[in-house]
Amino acid sequence: MAGLEDLYREIILDHYRSPRNRGDLPVPPAHKVEGFNPLCGDEVVLFIDVDPDTDTVRDVKIAGQGCSISQASTSMMSAAVKGKSLEETRQLIRAFKALMSIHESKLEGESDGSDLQADLEGVRLGDLEALQGVVKFPVRIKCATLAWNTLQQALDEVQAEV
Ligand code: ZN
Repeated sequence: MAGLEDLYREIILDHYRSPRNRGDLPVPPAHKVEGFNPLCGDEVVLFIDVDPDTDTVRDVKIAGQGCSISQASTSMMSAAVKGKSLEETRQLIRAFKALMSIHESKLEGESDGSDLQADLEGVRLGDLEALQGVVKFPVRIKCATLAWNTLQQALDEVQAEV
């Protein structure tokens, strides 16, 4: 499966070198949340603008710095959730975390991952699948999930305000 791994590496490097949606948004109306992964020194700054009438992610901008995995994952996340409803966005967060923990629990021999498989049903991950190779390096999983934990925190804060 070297071909597939090469493709995945290309996708990750492409997002790292040319991150999507880089920049910032005026706060308010946008919401700003920062995430930090002390294990690796990765930083994510997320600006998210949610349309309160339609509960849709109107715009996303990202900033920050860190390793290629963390920055590529942040770029992919921003591209994936733009224009999505909050419900679809939360579904995507669950699916991505399931993708990361299925492999993690397999590595630890605790589960075959079937309990997590349900979270992946019917969710199109697209480029995000490229990150599944990361789980072979457990220390990097936190790099990949940082953007998603930051996004989850942002949604929690946005929805708490409503
Ligand atoms: Zn990292």
